[in-house]
Amino acid sequence: MEQVDLAVIGAGPAGLSAALTAQAVGLSATVIDENPRPGGQIFRQMPEAFRVARPEALGHTFQKGQALLEKVSGAGIQLKLGTTVWGVFHPLTLALHRGDSTQSLRCRTLILATGAYDHTMPFPGWTLPGVMTLGGAQALVKGQRVLPGTRIVLAGSGPFLLPVAAQLLKGGARIVAILEATRPRSWLGKAGVLWKQWERFREAWEYMRPIAAARVPVRFGQTIVAARGDQALEEVTVASLDQEWRPVPGSEYALEADTACVGFGFSINTQLSRLCGCDHQYSPGYGGWVVSHDSWQRTSAQNVLVAGEATGIAGVDAAVAEGAIAGIGAALSLGLISEADARRRAAPHRKRLGRMRPFAEMLGELFAPREGLLDLITDETVVCRCEEVTAAEVRQAIDSGARDVNGVKSRARAGMGLCQGRVCGAIVAELVARGTGQPVEEVGVFSARPIAKPVSLAAIASME
Ligand SMILES: Cc1cc2nc3c(=O)[nH]c(=O)nc-3n(C[C@H](O)[C@H](O)[C@H](O)COP(=O)(O)OP(=O)(O)OC[C@H]3O[C@@H](n4cnc5c(N)ncnc54)[C@H](O)[C@@H]3O)c2cc1C
Repeated sequence: MEQVDLAVIGAGPAGLSAALTAQAVGLSATVIDENPRPGGQIFRQMPEAFRVARPEALGHTFQKGQALLEKVSGAGIQLKLGTTVWGVFHPLTLALHRGDSTQSLRCRTLILATGAYDHTMPFPGWTLPGVMTLGGAQALVKGQRVLPGTRIVLAGSGPFLLPVAAQLLKGGARIVAILEATRPRSWLGKAGVLWKQWERFREAWEYMRPIAAARVPVRFGQTIVAARGDQALEEVTVASLDQEWRPVPGSEYALEADTACVGFGFSINTQLSRLCGCDHQYSPGYGGWVVSHDSWQRTSAQNVLVAGEATGIAGVDAAVAEGAIAGIGAALSLGLISEADARRRAAPHRKRLGRMRPFAEMLGELFAPREGLLDLITDETVVCRCEEVTAAEVRQAIDSGARDVNGVKSRARAGMGLCQGRVCGAIVAELVARGTGQPVEEVGVFSARPIAKPVSLAAIASME
């Protein structure tokens, strides 16, 4: 079995930054990612066969990603790409899946930098072809230079609507409307936190310019409440939302579209941290259940550290800073550097992180999905797409005695499919909380177990 000193799961900004700082103090890192190329979500790369003729046309974020990737290739970090971690076993042994084979990797220290994914909210018709997440649309246009459709409506909450709209426009799409669930008046009073966030202003301006130039209607306090079509999406119904984001009766109108991209922020990817036995805490503004950690990014599980969005949604700069601290923390845990040296090395990263956190907290508070969106889910609405479990079946499970999400899982199969509850987990939790009158943090999370991601039986049979 292969053995390494430090394994990092996730080749996004957090994982790459962790590997770089660890490597700088003599701790060689092996970074694993299921994507064929490094970069994570924000620095998602195109396939190797694609040639970029004009890098400057791809914007500031692309350049920033290239700079990080060049540092990584110069540092001689070992990358295991196209490789999924589907299990973590005691003592710190990772089950890896690549192609048709599965291997084990033993590590002395592990950094989890597994990021996040779109937070979805079901509504009637959300499973129609043509309805997708904002992140799904972005992956197509950014990673493959493919447009998801030609008449597109974007809906949800938070700043992620902006880069996706700008990237779709750049790709030649027609955006029918951008629907932001919050209203600008709710942003008042937060202006102080924006002070000195020049980089964020610059980014927002880069995205808003093409949106304004294309005269895309941006409507606040509205969202998609239903999608309709024969074989695929043809039309969405839009409604105004009240304070709690309940649709206002009588405010509905229709928009013709072949694509609807919807996302209400991000949910944190905690499957592997739960497999490792790490403690978590509930933090709705930061993306739900986040991995608890100390000031060196060490979790409650021995020799397991965490960095980036897995500790709460805070954006790329915070992910890079946390990754750097985790890399130093890993070297400290293995006794490769003194506490004083570690503190000195971590100081600039801590300063940067300190500047980002209040901003992230503010965004989380403003844009976290509100309870009224649950009113969109009719009895017939599919909640768990993998196992095709409807809201009525989830409600029946609650009526028959389920008091937490795992009670629903065992009675109705929600969360038992291919995605293992990554998409429906947060929604089932909200439905159980509402149905039983408990706070959402009391209804638990789907229990994690290997196999965390789909693996063929042939691959498991080949395991060394
Ligand atoms: C869909 C999506 C799109 C986003 N786009 C933007 C954007 O355009 N602009 C912006 O400012 N921010 C964006 N963000 C926020 C962005 O995630 C962060 O700013 C930043 O990328 C976080 O870095 P990270 O390293 O923590 O996580 P990520 O960049 O998400 O990296 C995590 C990595 O872990 C890997 N991974 C997870 N589980 C496994 C496993 N079991 N086995 C192997 N590999 C695994 C993933 O493949 C991924 O590459 C986006 C977030 C999401 C979820």
